[in-house]
Amino acid sequence: MIAAFRFLREFFSVPRGQPELRQAQYRAFSKQIPLMYFILLTNTWILCGSVYSSAPIELSIYFPMVLTAVCVFRIASWWRSRGKSTTDDHVARALNRTNRLAAVIAIAFTTWSISLFPYGGPLQQAHVAFYMAITVVGCIFCLMHLRSAAFIVALIVNIGFIAFFATSGEPVFIATAANIALVSVTMLIMLLIYYRDFTDMVRARIENHRLANLDPLTNLPNRRRFFSELVEAFATATTNGDGLAVAVVDLDGFKPVNDTYGHVVGDELLIAVGDRLGALCKSIFVARLGGDEFALILRGREQHELLGFGNLVCARLRESFALPNGHMVQIAGSMGIATFPEHDGDAMKLYEKADYALYHSKRNRRGQAVVFTSRHEEELRRDADIQQALTRADLEHELQVVFQPIFSLRSRQIVAYEALARWHSAEFGIVSPAQFIPVAERCDLVQQMTPILLQKALANAAIWDDDIRISFNLSAKDLTSSEGVLRLIATINDSGVSPARIDLEITETSILQDIERVHLYARMLRDLGCGISLDDFGTGFSSLSQLHSLPLTKIKIDRSFVSDLHRKPASYKIVKSMLALARDMGLGCIVEGVESAEETAALTEMGCDHVQGYYFGRPAAKIEAPGQIARRAAS
Ligand code: C2E
Ligand code: CA
Ligand code: CA
Repeated sequence: MIAAFRFLREFFSVPRGQPELRQAQYRAFSKQIPLMYFILLTNTWILCGSVYSSAPIELSIYFPMVLTAVCVFRIASWWRSRGKSTTDDHVARALNRTNRLAAVIAIAFTTWSISLFPYGGPLQQAHVAFYMAITVVGCIFCLMHLRSAAFIVALIVNIGFIAFFATSGEPVFIATAANIALVSVTMLIMLLIYYRDFTDMVRARIENHRLANLDPLTNLPNRRRFFSELVEAFATATTNGDGLAVAVVDLDGFKPVNDTYGHVVGDELLIAVGDRLGALCKSIFVARLGGDEFALILRGREQHELLGFGNLVCARLRESFALPNGHMVQIAGSMGIATFPEHDGDAMKLYEKADYALYHSKRNRRGQAVVFTSRHEEELRRDADIQQALTRADLEHELQVVFQPIFSLRSRQIVAYEALARWHSAEFGIVSPAQFIPVAERCDLVQQMTPILLQKALANAAIWDDDIRISFNLSAKDLTSSEGVLRLIATINDSGVSPARIDLEITETSILQDIERVHLYARMLRDLGCGISLDDFGTGFSSLSQLHSLPLTKIKIDRSFVSDLHRKPASYKIVKSMLALARDMGLGCIVEGVESAEETAALTEMGCDHVQGYYFGRPAAKIEAPGQIARRAAS
């Protein structure tokens, strides 16, 4: 009994707890309700015309005028709400009002039309019946989006109609009542079906919207949602003059986890990272942009606290993660931050700046936060200029190679030269590869450059003594397509230099981008007879177990470990253990960036053989006669 009552009450009320549904109903109503009142009033005044001569003036003019006033007032208020976004509260109140008014107005019009019946002849009476039947159909159509209101009107008018006409004693009217009863039932069934479809559609729309904006793995907002949120936040910040910052986080060492433990563990790690970021950044918008990249939107923060906050986030990401199936993994996160209004532009520019700061963090301050500064702004501008100039450049003529010797401390001989690229730009003069290679990598020009550089390097090596090797740097992009690799192989074959004299240098960071493919292509080059050297060893985040699987022949210890190693016990130990490691793995080892006699002495003491650095020779266009360097090393 109580359940039935509850059901009825709910059936005849505005839906509760579904704000999106109510919003959709409200939007539909703001267009349809004025139309409904228009039908109602037009039909009413036409009926008034019909009964004017027979009915008393109170019924044919005054009462309809009062009803018209009420209706016009309602039309005006709905008309004003068209296209406006309103609060949920307002919408709920408007719909509840409509529900109540539906009853009042239905009773008023039904009573009025029935009270007209006794006046006039059968034609006018027929018009009253026709008016009631047709007007209620129109109204129900217009109210279809709010089941309760449509039902209230249908029940009041049709029950009134059927009861009145069925008891009129007039066979034609009794028949009409039967017609109306049948039509009413059909219409109410249709209404139920339509209303169910409508609510289903609204729900589906909500769900689609949710899915389109949510990252299914971490349940964080996705890339698309991030950008729409950013555009909105940017607009607010611009109008209110608030501060705004974007931070982009990229994980260091995620790929190795994914490759070693598999995708399931990788997914779990991403979920854990998402949770940790979410917990750390309670009032901050956190999104997953894709892969192992996350982004935060920070509103109204002071610029000086941002770096501290960013580093705190990075520090938390360095703490190990205990994953559901028992794995303990450790990774790190680098972060780039850009702030508004310190740098102008739009939302997209702000994101690009944060991304550039991230790129800097990855290159120079791995595992830490970097805030975009005006210096970066200049670099960005310069990079853009370089990119412009590179696309116009005559690479075949403007690219050159210089050679830096690699020296054996044991035999006191030059054993190889490393080829280093130089760009003789018409606009900028001689440009360092540290500057143009990263730009060329980003705009995919490097694949075009490598064969040119390799060809020039090998043309030089072809005239050296046969026992001098040549070392050549490959970019990350060179080992991403089979066409690229086949072109390198063709260049080597055409050069007349034996592959056995060639070492190809790849960096740890380039390997980590796509370890499987790099593995495959490095293998092809290794099978050709080339050596493969791991460049800048020690600066990346890879685990040795991964590098172990690569067909490496040498490692090159990065110069950051070498400077002043005779005075820095930490560096000394690191280099010493790296040397031991290379020996254990059966790999050759070259220590880079040796700049002084003291460093050389310390390295000799450790048992290091191959060295490279300014102390033994700067990069030069022509190779030095071997004797010159041997003398310097001996002195
Ligand atoms: P890298 O492969 O680590 O090359 C060594 C860099 O260190 C060279 O800079 C070299 O001039 C410099 N260097 C050598 N000895 C010393 C020293 O004792 N002290 C100091 N401070 N620096 C020393 P460079 O020629 O400017 O090249 C920079 C980077 O550009 C290279 O680093 C390499 O990653 C990249 N690169 C150079 N040539 C090519 C190329 O043909 N292709 C590609 N993809 N990258 C290249
Ligand atoms: Ca190198
Ligand atoms: Ca290097």
